[in-house]
Amino acid sequence: MSVTPEARRNARTILDRLRRRYPTVRTALHFASPWQLLVATVLSAQTTDDTVNRVVPVLFERWPSPHELAVADPEEVEAVVHPTGFFRQKTRAVIELSADLVERFGGMVPADLERLVSLKGVGRKTASVVLTEAFGLPAIAVDTHVGRVTRRLGLTGEGDPAKVEAALRELYPESAWSGISMRFIQFGRDTCDARKPRCYDCVLRDRCAFPDKRMSPDAPPVMSRSGAGEG
Ligand code: SF4
Repeated sequence: MSVTPEARRNARTILDRLRRRYPTVRTALHFASPWQLLVATVLSAQTTDDTVNRVVPVLFERWPSPHELAVADPEEVEAVVHPTGFFRQKTRAVIELSADLVERFGGMVPADLERLVSLKGVGRKTASVVLTEAFGLPAIAVDTHVGRVTRRLGLTGEGDPAKVEAALRELYPESAWSGISMRFIQFGRDTCDARKPRCYDCVLRDRCAFPDKRMSPDAPPVMSRSGAGEG
């Protein structure tokens, strides 16, 4: 993949504006160790960070390390994680993840992407969040917001999250990677919504290739259509 200097300049301008808009960005999930962030991230699927933050103090007090959670009674864990939804799947996931971590890494979360994604149930997105937030290492986590926003802005034409991540890695220097995801996620939540983007109030409008901009709050929602990059 070859990236032109102009594409890099455009990408830098976009990120600079998002940095001004969101000067500090951190995950809203509460954690005290990489393992706790791994577990909290698994629990955060399909629910709010607030809900996870209410559940994890109870979870980590009862099972304070992967060694304990690996051998926990699933029914007891289910009762604790119940408020986060999908509690059976999530219980199985955090127990299996902890057991895998104990068995292969002695309970220590590895600080590199390849070994992190080798853990049971850990994908690139979760691994990248842990690298950035818990270890302070450069990584780009691509979720639905990052994918949608970067496609609309024309930073990538890719749909597959791993390819979006690769495109962003090409566009930005490694020193910038850690601040990218959280800013695009925040921007996707408060401005570039999937169905009701606030294009009329968008600091990136002049940089945006999205053809169906909503130029007033009363404009109809964006319909999903192939190639437009919603979702
Ligand atoms: S102009 Fe609209 S579609 Fe483009 S980045 Fe801004 S909010 Fe998103």
